[in-house]
Amino acid sequence: MAPSKNAKRATAISLISSIALIVGLLSCPNGADAVPPNKIPHKADISHPKGQSPWPDYGEIPKVNTPEVKAWVKAVNWAKVPKLPIRPVEHLGDPPECKGEHKGECWWTCDMCVAPDDVVDCPGKNTWGLTFDDGPQTGVTEDLFKLLHEKNVTATFFVTGMKSSKGPWLLQDTIDRGHHLASHTWSHSGLTTLTNEQIVAELMWTQKYIFDHTGYKVKYFRPPYGDIDNRVRGIARELGFKTVIWSNDWDTQDWQLEENSITPKEVIRIFKNDLDELPTRKKGVITLEHDGDQKMAHMARTLLEMGIKKGLKPMNIAQCMGDKVGYLQVPAPAPVPGKTPPKPAQQPHQDPASSAAADPSTGDKMDTTLGTLPAGDVSKQSAGIASSALSLTGLSAVCWALVTVVTSLIL
Ligand SMILES: [Zn+2]
Repeated sequence: MAPSKNAKRATAISLISSIALIVGLLSCPNGADAVPPNKIPHKADISHPKGQSPWPDYGEIPKVNTPEVKAWVKAVNWAKVPKLPIRPVEHLGDPPECKGEHKGECWWTCDMCVAPDDVVDCPGKNTWGLTFDDGPQTGVTEDLFKLLHEKNVTATFFVTGMKSSKGPWLLQDTIDRGHHLASHTWSHSGLTTLTNEQIVAELMWTQKYIFDHTGYKVKYFRPPYGDIDNRVRGIARELGFKTVIWSNDWDTQDWQLEENSITPKEVIRIFKNDLDELPTRKKGVITLEHDGDQKMAHMARTLLEMGIKKGLKPMNIAQCMGDKVGYLQVPAPAPVPGKTPPKPAQQPHQDPASSAAADPSTGDKMDTTLGTLPAGDVSKQSAGIASSALSLTGLSAVCWALVTVVTSLIL
């Protein structure tokens, strides 16, 4: 017997609904993937014809005889930078060995000396400055995004300029997911072994690279290996940077996993010992982790869960410092059609050191205020859990509601 008209119609509706359901399931945002991908092509920025790259070479200390570096150097008030010896080193790029007298030079590498304005701990008890260094690293940084999204926390990523040039789209991804970007220099060299001009070049090229690819001018910087003395500090301050190291003994040693010089069990044991000290600690902590390879990404999950279980509240450095903006400059918000632009807002907290900052592209004194950015938008663009995370929740809800409706139609 031929099927009735009604039966044919029911079959057709059911078929269309099923297709819609499958399309819905495939396209609904989920976890870290929920943030729509940015438009930056997934292409490394390092294969320019010889001599034609606008950026310093990968793995090289930036050259100092370029117009950009000369302008940045000129903008520094060198009277404020102490004259200290350049530390000798066997292999350029490595941290130096501690040799000779270095009293009054506040050399962290050798004496664990910190200056009053170095950020070493998060101020609030049980606050946890979660930091990942040496990235971005394709295939690893994205896994950390997923983990952090799952736990609903944000972190500070201390990126190097050279690694950023291998995955420039990951910089915007970091911001889109509500995380905080900071500088870890261009080539990851021991800074106390470099000349004044090389230090300027390391810091400013990295800041410029991040700014040109995101519109965010980084404020926080971490010296590779923690290798900083009063000369490096003086230069960093003059350029408007705030130095971040990590809490004494809270280096998780995860970087040794890459070269198999430590076992995962040992990393866990070290972190457990640190956590056991928490009840007697008045301040919070800043940990040192890395997004170098998969072993580190797996370890990040274990350590994050251990810390949360012990009552630590993970967050990025800007959040733990109560710094609502977290950058020297953020992009102006896109104008809303039909809305008059708001009047310039009151300048938020400004670091005294920031006022002397030089613009990386011109060498001019840089405006560290937020210009026309209204206060409301500042908080949206702050380093905290960004508005993108909130809008994604809304998008997700609408999408999944549609799938539910279609499902009920089928059933
Ligand atoms: Zn590093």
